[in-house]
Amino acid sequence: MTVFWAKLVWALGLVGWFVIRYPHNRRARKTPTRSRTLDLLRLTVSFTGMCLIPAVYVVSGQPRFADYTFRPVAAWVGAGLFAVSLWLFHRTHKDLGRNWSVTLEIREQHALVTSGVYSHVRHPMYTAFWLWALAQALLLPNWIAGPAGLVGFGTLFFLRLGREEAMMTEAFGEEYRRYASRTWRVFPGIY
Ligand code: SAH
Repeated sequence: MTVFWAKLVWALGLVGWFVIRYPHNRRARKTPTRSRTLDLLRLTVSFTGMCLIPAVYVVSGQPRFADYTFRPVAAWVGAGLFAVSLWLFHRTHKDLGRNWSVTLEIREQHALVTSGVYSHVRHPMYTAFWLWALAQALLLPNWIAGPAGLVGFGTLFFLRLGREEAMMTEAFGEEYRRYASRTWRVFPGIY
């Protein structure tokens, strides 16, 4: 693989991600919510690291001073991780259905999903985002554009997880506590 193809894989992955999310975004806007916590700032940080900075790099090659030697093997691993990430992202949207929202919210008729990929980990969509961020770091040979996703999504993840679990516990009580006690958060056997 060459840098050109690695950049193209990253860009195609990004397009795939938006194609998977598009219909869910439209539906989410039409589904009423009970409470709304605005964590748009955290989402903006994540978007900057996962989309904006790498897109500038892919299109313009900037910031050039941070370039390092391209390694085809790393890019192939990155391409594989991106494929797994897209598959998982698609699965999580299928399983969550109308319960999904971009910001932390509980819908009027919110159901706790514990089946499908949610039977193994309780934040599989975040698993998909971590895999995407890792793929980006492996595909783009640049010390800023590559790891920007890990930093951007990592910020969102660590600032949000506690709040999300507190919100779910408040909404579902014992049911969520029991579910949390039998699942891992993001990576089975690790965290
Ligand atoms: N953290 C989850 C979902 C991310 S989307 C994951 O990584 O897969 C965020 C929204 O999903 C939150 O607003 C919350 O209302 C909803 N949510 C999270 N876990 C859920 C579950 N197990 N069942 C139903 N809704 C859930």
